[in-house]
Amino acid sequence: MGDIVYYVRGNKKKAYLNITPNYECTNDCVFCDKHMLEGAVQSNLYLEEEPSLDYIVNEIKQKVDGNAVEEFVFCGIGEPLIYLDKLINITIYIKKEYNKPVRVNTNGQAYIIHPYKDVVTMLEKAGVDSVSISLNVTDAREYNLLHKPKYRDVFNDIIEFVKDCNDSAIETTVTFLEFPKHNKKEIYEFTRKLGLRDEQVRFRPFITR
Ligand code: SF4
Repeated sequence: MGDIVYYVRGNKKKAYLNITPNYECTNDCVFCDKHMLEGAVQSNLYLEEEPSLDYIVNEIKQKVDGNAVEEFVFCGIGEPLIYLDKLINITIYIKKEYNKPVRVNTNGQAYIIHPYKDVVTMLEKAGVDSVSISLNVTDAREYNLLHKPKYRDVFNDIIEFVKDCNDSAIETTVTFLEFPKHNKKEIYEFTRKLGLRDEQVRFRPFITR
């Protein structure tokens, strides 16, 4: 089994949690390079079966240094909010045992994955402090080309999720990979229309091999 808990450059202050089996995701992004990411974080993130809540909690107990950790981040390869109920229970456990901030990195498709659940309220109540939603583009056509989503018409639902997170107590960030053709001015105009301040927009370097 791959790693549930991993660190970036050995930094024990930020414990990353990888809970999604089989790299499961609702996208098939053209830029998703699983092996490059695993190399960068020096971890095997392939979970060949769904880890139980007990297994995850046990891994956290064993691998997280309670004196060093300052934040927990759900961010594996794959989409963590597919396993919403488990993520909620892990968050409740983290809050009780460590009382540290919890962030969820997501592709923002929770409303399509869980159409009958009030996802944002659930995250808020469990104690999730922040979400980072990967947007990368500002329109549906480009989104589909780049991310090859499993579901149809996902872009509007992602935008609704962004807005609802931003209206909640959860600190909300949207991220854009820095593609060469991106016009940052246009991106800021778009995100301002969603009600986001410019500080809530983060650009991430686009790395190719
Ligand atoms: S959303 Fe993330 S994990 Fe899913 S395919 Fe895209 S880059 Fe990979």
